[in-house]
Amino acid sequence: MKKIGLFGGTFDPPHIGHIQLVKTVLESLELDEVWLIPTYTPPHKEGARADSQHRLNMLRLLIDGEDQLSISTIEYKREGKSYTLDTVKELKKLYPKNQFYFIIGGDMIDYLPKWHRIDELKQLIQFVGVQRKGYNNPNDQDVLIVEMPPIEVSSTDIRENIKLGRVPVGLPDSVREYIKENHLYED
Ligand code: ATP
Repeated sequence: MKKIGLFGGTFDPPHIGHIQLVKTVLESLELDEVWLIPTYTPPHKEGARADSQHRLNMLRLLIDGEDQLSISTIEYKREGKSYTLDTVKELKKLYPKNQFYFIIGGDMIDYLPKWHRIDELKQLIQFVGVQRKGYNNPNDQDVLIVEMPPIEVSSTDIRENIKLGRVPVGLPDSVREYIKENHLYED
């Protein structure tokens, strides 16, 4: 039996906060692997700024050389938007021997009640919330908390800096170059 973490995100763009977060969970829960799952059409956001293929290419660059990290394009293969419940059900069916964990950033814990059929989802998979050290933990008994030192980077800040013509921080060189070559987030 393998212990696998699942980590969904828009990754618009992916950044070092994402890598740090999954590595922290890998180590503290002694997982075998983490599968990153980019959303095709994000259900909680207006829509991604960079198209799905660009976001996937950047994610590949971000995890390059990381043996325990891989990407699942399961949500790209479905038409339209994906609910986490459907993704988790499908993965559990495909890999019945694996033990799955669903990793979320600490700021998402408060939003869990809004997720599609969250009670059913919580029965299917253990949630792991990565909480910034020193901050109060939101109170959700079903979420296993892993602590991580804060990393001041977000996709929103990166996009804003690029728009303002600044060099964005929090990206590996490969991703920064990809964004530049493809003129992403410039307007
Ligand atoms: P945006 O700024 O566009 O909302 P984001 O940087 O939060 O994007 P997402 O792809 O939406 O990136 O995030 C996926 C997950 O990563 C979320 O659960 C989010 O909480 C978490 N996350 C993102 N950045 C960090 C960070 N610096 N520290 C801890 N968790 C983070």
